[in-house]
Amino acid sequence: MKSSEIRDKFLTFFESKGHSVVRSSPLVPGNDPTMLLTNSGMVQFKDVFIGTDSRPYTRATSVQRCVRAGGKHNDLENVGYTARHHTFFEMLGNFSFGDYFKRDAINYAWELLTKVYGLPADKLTVTVYVEDDEAYDIWANEIGVPAARIIRIGDNKGGRYASDNFWQMADTGPCGPCTEIFYDHGADIPGGPPGSPDEDGDRFIEIWNLVFMQFNRDEAGNMNKLPKPCVDTGMGMERLAAVLQHVHSNYEIDLFQNLIRAAARETRTLDLESKSLRVIADHIRAASFLIVDGIIPGPEGHGYVLRRIIRRALRHGHKLGQNRPFFYKLVEDLNDEMGAAYPELAEAKQRVAQTLRQEEERFGETLENGMKILEAQLAKDSKNLDGATAFTLYDTYGFPLDLTADICRERGVTLDQAGFTAAMEQQKKTARAAGKFKMAAGVEYSGAKTTFIGYDSLVHNATIIALYCGG
Ligand code: ATP
Ligand code: MG
Ligand code: MG
Ligand code: MG
Repeated sequence: MKSSEIRDKFLTFFESKGHSVVRSSPLVPGNDPTMLLTNSGMVQFKDVFIGTDSRPYTRATSVQRCVRAGGKHNDLENVGYTARHHTFFEMLGNFSFGDYFKRDAINYAWELLTKVYGLPADKLTVTVYVEDDEAYDIWANEIGVPAARIIRIGDNKGGRYASDNFWQMADTGPCGPCTEIFYDHGADIPGGPPGSPDEDGDRFIEIWNLVFMQFNRDEAGNMNKLPKPCVDTGMGMERLAAVLQHVHSNYEIDLFQNLIRAAARETRTLDLESKSLRVIADHIRAASFLIVDGIIPGPEGHGYVLRRIIRRALRHGHKLGQNRPFFYKLVEDLNDEMGAAYPELAEAKQRVAQTLRQEEERFGETLENGMKILEAQLAKDSKNLDGATAFTLYDTYGFPLDLTADICRERGVTLDQAGFTAAMEQQKKTARAAGKFKMAAGVEYSGAKTTFIGYDSLVHNATIIALYCGG
């Protein structure tokens, strides 16, 4: 079953259950300045859940474009390492705004997976929040999932799993338990069932999360029952496609194989299993859609998320021996795969390619020179990269810290992140001192202003890097 058919079947199914089909919102949330990028289907409905906005429907369904490459959800480091994570992905969702609740949500999910998509029931495992007997009962007694395949996840596992099956929008506000559906890809793949110590493997892959917004947590931490509980679900389209196409990794589905072949063509790579090709195929999607939605590469905020993704892809191209712009050429291939589902991509593709090409030209030379500096340093010490070198790469050669960290991880090199931060602090002090000196010497104000802007954006990048390092 192709991606296009998977999307259609999902929307048609929920439409037949009285849901209004709602278009994907852009990647930059229009209703929440505190949220950098849209990371799930519920984002465009946030105010409806809180009750400050209303819609002419109480049931909705969507295929939402999402990016998880910064902020609370950051899967950038997982790309190329797990079978299931992307920076950009499509989330299939159904939503109830004070309409149906647990019983219907679970029944719909099961009917869709087993009857419409035809998944074998015995390959599915579900989790419920440890205290949610209501959901447990529906799975066990109404759907008939054997007890061995219903796993309670909660705070009894050292606190680590508590938040996994308990969802909250923020420290206060709507929250509630979730139930998640996993597909077992088979005993030959490493990894244990959810809740087990080796659950992070890729054998049991989480495909669908059903969130039940049941409470409103107030400032004092009290959990007050919501008068009209809501449902918010999200299923990764690519993960479902992998199951339906009888492959294990998302990167083996039709859409990704075509992008990987295109990346191989542009980088003249023969080994189609190359990790770098997967990263490039992932990143062309994220980078292109961020540009479609109005972001341009830059030193801070959204622009820096985009820049990090592009530069990371270019470094993987460089690793495959590519010294000239190649990345922008993949926009056409991406459009062949996704332009029909996303007319906004088809419309913007020239602008997207142009923006990518400019960034490739800008970074091309410093990438080459920076890699030489890095190689020279690693020739001296093949186990550790000092913070000063990482900072030079960042400051002079435009290597985002995560790019350098990616190279270090590949080669088993320890990166001195604390040293990097110290070098950045030092730079800020120097810049500040220089600013004062110039002002004191009566140098034109614009000079000091330039220094100031540079310093400001450095601070901002440092914040992003701190987020990235600290998780
Ligand atoms: P995981 O535990 O595998 O990282 P998650 O619990 O972070 O997933 P949710 O926040 O529950 O994911 O999102 C709902 C669904 O979206 C997931 O069940 C999965 O199918 C899909 N999904 C989440 N993150 C990604 C990603 N980075 N790439 C592709 N699909 C994703
Ligand atoms: Mg995750
Ligand atoms: Mg999860
Ligand atoms: Mg989840």
